[in-house]
Amino acid sequence: MSKVRIIVNPISGKGRSRVLAEELATEVASCGLDVETVFTQAKGEAMEAAAETGEDYAAVCAVGGDGTMNEVLNGIADRDIPLAIMPAGLSNVVAVELGIPADACAVANAIAQENTIEIDLCIASGRYFIGMGGAGWDAHIVHSIAQSRKTPLGFPGYVLPIARSLVSYSFPNITVTLDGARVSEKAGMVIVDNVKQYGGPFKVTNRADFTDNLLDVYLVHRASHIEMLKLFAGVLWGDHTRHGNAKYLRGKKLELASRGQVPVHIDGEACGHLPKTFETTGKKKRVVVPKQ
Ligand SMILES: [Mg+2]
Repeated sequence: MSKVRIIVNPISGKGRSRVLAEELATEVASCGLDVETVFTQAKGEAMEAAAETGEDYAAVCAVGGDGTMNEVLNGIADRDIPLAIMPAGLSNVVAVELGIPADACAVANAIAQENTIEIDLCIASGRYFIGMGGAGWDAHIVHSIAQSRKTPLGFPGYVLPIARSLVSYSFPNITVTLDGARVSEKAGMVIVDNVKQYGGPFKVTNRADFTDNLLDVYLVHRASHIEMLKLFAGVLWGDHTRHGNAKYLRGKKLELASRGQVPVHIDGEACGHLPKTFETTGKKKRVVVPKQ
């Protein structure tokens, strides 16, 4: 009998992940599959739990936000086991992009019927991702939240660090090299995306295609905080790509470096500092997606 491992971040969605995981386990079992549920307690455990699965698994399902999804992806990235996602976090960028609902019945049926699509598998200095990454201001916010996060996070958990960083953050000089060509030496923040979604109502790289084996890159040159606010407001109605202070590019290999200590996030998780290289791998990852 085929098995399914469900890997749950129990603090995602203020405990909603537990409820969704229980519903999913029941639905998967009723489809005639063997279910194992693993609750994680610390960073890194979701990746380990995914990596321990054998080749006879029908899927490994991440129940949580993008961070949990990214860990599970890294546990099975180079193997032919489909990644399933049950969105239960505050931010579920990849699930939104692929149209995966927080619906146990739909996800369980898709796993049982092997409804998968192929998505470009990307890597950032050894860490796989299928969503997005960034260096600079947004990564700074992710890092400051990660340092203070002890409890489940709601929107208020984001508001204070964002407000604080608007006042205090000083933009670094990031050197940006795309497919061997130097495109900027004074970027203040860089967003690199496999998907259009960025989080909440925002679509920054609104022309991204997760099957074209290319990364979409949006970079903003150093600017005043007021200018940055205007730019982010522009993201809401989609005119940010024409802003004189910004560039929208596309390529296979993005190298970012800085003399300063510039934080990096990958799929919304704090992931060290520059330098980093973001690349497409030329490989695909199968992701379970319910039929719409
Ligand atoms: Mg692409």
